[in-house]
Amino acid sequence: MKILLHICCAPCATHCINLLKNLGYEVVGFFYNPNIHPPKEYERRKAELEKIRKYFEIDVIEWKYDVENWFKYIKGYEKEREGGKRCELCIKMRLEETAKYARMKGFDAFTTTLTISPWKNSKKIFEIGRKISEKYNIRFLEIDFKKNDGFKKSVELSKRYNMYRQKYCGCIFSYLDRLHKNK
Ligand code: SF4
Repeated sequence: MKILLHICCAPCATHCINLLKNLGYEVVGFFYNPNIHPPKEYERRKAELEKIRKYFEIDVIEWKYDVENWFKYIKGYEKEREGGKRCELCIKMRLEETAKYARMKGFDAFTTTLTISPWKNSKKIFEIGRKISEKYNIRFLEIDFKKNDGFKKSVELSKRYNMYRQKYCGCIFSYLDRLHKNK
């Protein structure tokens, strides 16, 4: 079974890849995150994918950094709190592109590293994934990576491989929130 794994960042991908491999999947990573701000931060997170390729021996596709489309997509919801409608749209946009690519390239299923985050609602992600799965007629693997200490395991693995771990989710709004909290 070949699965396309949407990767939000290298540290989160570590445990997810291990788990999927243990379940018998052939994993290919898909880095599609036009939400990440600023471009320098995007490049930094993208550069860490080399460690995923090297230590986890999988291929990772780097997809478009279509920032303008992302801002159009979330328009009207910029001021939402983290976890609200803006995030729902942001996740939908990224998963939809993953599903389209998976379908186009003949994968059996797709899923996302996003459920590993303790700050993300896995049930909501499953709902989004299910709708996209129906729309594109490709299986969405509903797997809650944060279960069984998943996040903790990803922290340990990312430390072992000396990976950069960011301090905010990704978009400019989450970046500003973080700055505000640190004041
Ligand atoms: S906080 Fe994270 S999930 Fe929410 S819109 Fe920003 S980047 Fe996307």
